[in-house]
Amino acid sequence: MLSIQDIVIGVPISSSYGFLGWSSISLIHDTARNEYILLDSGGFNSRLVLLKKLNDLGIELSNVSKILLTHLHFDHCMNLELFPRAVIYISKKELQYILSREYQKRNDIFVPKPYLERIIEERKVIEVSEGIEPHPGIMAIELPGHTPGSTGYLIEDSEIIFVGDAIKNLYELIHKKPALYFDSLSHWEKSIDKVLKIAKEIIPGHGSRIKVKDKIIEEIVKELEIEFEIIIKGSKRKFKLNTLGELAVELSF
Ligand SMILES: [Zn+2]
Repeated sequence: MLSIQDIVIGVPISSSYGFLGWSSISLIHDTARNEYILLDSGGFNSRLVLLKKLNDLGIELSNVSKILLTHLHFDHCMNLELFPRAVIYISKKELQYILSREYQKRNDIFVPKPYLERIIEERKVIEVSEGIEPHPGIMAIELPGHTPGSTGYLIEDSEIIFVGDAIKNLYELIHKKPALYFDSLSHWEKSIDKVLKIAKEIIPGHGSRIKVKDKIIEEIVKELEIEFEIIIKGSKRKFKLNTLGELAVELSF
């Protein structure tokens, strides 16, 4: 049996003062094989949160046997070296996009190329494409649009799909308008339709889980609220944010 939990919930906030890059990281436990599989690995800025969450769950980093990456932007793929035993799975098309330098032609400035080159050299990297199972019960689903090789991972039994930035958050899905894309809008729209046809739940790249009811986009409901704390000149402030990103309520000083 595969159980999935969202260990870092992506936050749907962007800023005119630079990217926050707080992306989703989920963990699958294959209870029969006692294997742990990470879906995306987040950015450096999520490193402490990721380590703390895994530690709280009592999971040793060396127990993560696979990391499945949705795409190769800095906020999704930067913590690979924390998991020395993990085999890395990535879309064949996404790798070509990076290695052929196509990403430069498309002004995609979010690819950490030198880091990825070193990872490819030093680690076991396995390419995936549509329909491939990087692990029994988990299927790679090609979702081009955000990048040409963007890939989702469908947990087949529970019909939950982890999509990375193919869908960044609920707002983007409802308004059918991607904030940023390096492939094409028509590919992006087709990918959205594909996700809505095959999944009951979506884990987006920068937001909390989205439920899909009867495959109808209007009936998607918001689920979680995200609490976070910021520190300004040593004074802590707590905020609560709903998944639509419409409300940022200051809770306390
Ligand atoms: Zn992202």
